[in-house]
Amino acid sequence: MKKYKIALLDGDAIGPECMREAVKVLKAVEARNDNIEFDLVHADFGASAYFKVGNAFPDETRKICDEADAVLKGPVGLSYEETQKIPVDMQPERGAILPLRKHLDTYANLRPVSLPKSLSHFSPLKAEIVGNGIDILIIRELVGGLYFGDKEVGVNDDGLRYVRETLEYDEKQISQIIHFAFKQAMQRKKVLHNIHKSNVLKSSVLWNEIVAEIAPLYPEVEVKQQLVDSAATLLCLDPGQFDVMVMENMFGDILSDQGGGILGSLGLMPSACLGDNKAYYEPSHGSAPDIAGKNIANPYSMIGSVAMMLEHSFGMLEESKNIWKAIQSVYAQGYSTPDLSKPGSGVKMINTDAFGDLVVDELNKL
Ligand code: NAD
Repeated sequence: MKKYKIALLDGDAIGPECMREAVKVLKAVEARNDNIEFDLVHADFGASAYFKVGNAFPDETRKICDEADAVLKGPVGLSYEETQKIPVDMQPERGAILPLRKHLDTYANLRPVSLPKSLSHFSPLKAEIVGNGIDILIIRELVGGLYFGDKEVGVNDDGLRYVRETLEYDEKQISQIIHFAFKQAMQRKKVLHNIHKSNVLKSSVLWNEIVAEIAPLYPEVEVKQQLVDSAATLLCLDPGQFDVMVMENMFGDILSDQGGGILGSLGLMPSACLGDNKAYYEPSHGSAPDIAGKNIANPYSMIGSVAMMLEHSFGMLEESKNIWKAIQSVYAQGYSTPDLSKPGSGVKMINTDAFGDLVVDELNKL
């Protein structure tokens, strides 16, 4: 019997709604596998934790994450207006997500931007562009750069308020993510798009030097250079040219949300945040306060994050593939949550909980 302890950080707004569906799938996986037991431990995290205990990432949650074999995190955050009720440094990204990433040292964020051919109609792009589907792996450096550098706010000598934020990377940080990206490229089409802004940023100049130094170690991988701004355009005009894309933290934050856009919804964006010792899994999207409490969020990203956890943390490759197959079967039967389809478009519109139930039904047929 293998026992895995999983910390469940439900998060805010649609977080708990999506987590409920992920838990259904985890319980179904457990029921299907006699030799597997999941110990699921919920822990407070994000704005809800701040309002409950005055800390967005409480010590108790940190301890539960440390003791867990993997962490599954729902999105955190509130609307802009509600967020203003929380002190700046306790607001969920600064107070919870960034400290979690740093604490677990999950430097490699895998964000698949994937839409099988059969679902290409969900994309807002024309059929001639995405008719064959989309299959891109965005790799985002997750624990460095502008988000983690020193920050200073004050009033300057001219009496003007100013802010200074530092974008810092050292060569170890860059080389570990670049090696990671080459290894992923080796497992796929052996083409690596290096996304940067070396025409402006010195950090990109160092980044590219390190890419050039590491590339000879992976002679089979073709490296393609792309500036981040034009990469944004090309993701819309010709996403088929990309396979694995690697980039620093903020570029990855922004381009991966664009990835959700070309798929048709951020609800289709699971992710894995991997470090050498720990990993956590989360949807790439935010907490969608605009649709919270309505039972209409698409739980695909959360359930897909479970599939990624089974693959990367527990080595359960077959069961991970089965979850993906189950999700695709639900879509193949014409079901859709409202983010992907309009009423009257011929789809069978379902809510968050029905999607989770159907995934479990399909999983149990495999
Ligand atoms: P968002 O990703 O929450 O929402 C953007 C749009 O996508 C909204 O229209 C929303 O309804 C839709 N959407 C997102 N996920 C969906 C899903 N699963 N199903 C259907 N529709 C979905 O981005 P935002 O509105 O800019 O941010 C809201 C909050 O989330 C903010 O407080 C932000 O700080 C936080 N946030 C958290 C994370 C995280 O937890 N990792 C990531 C990004 C943003």
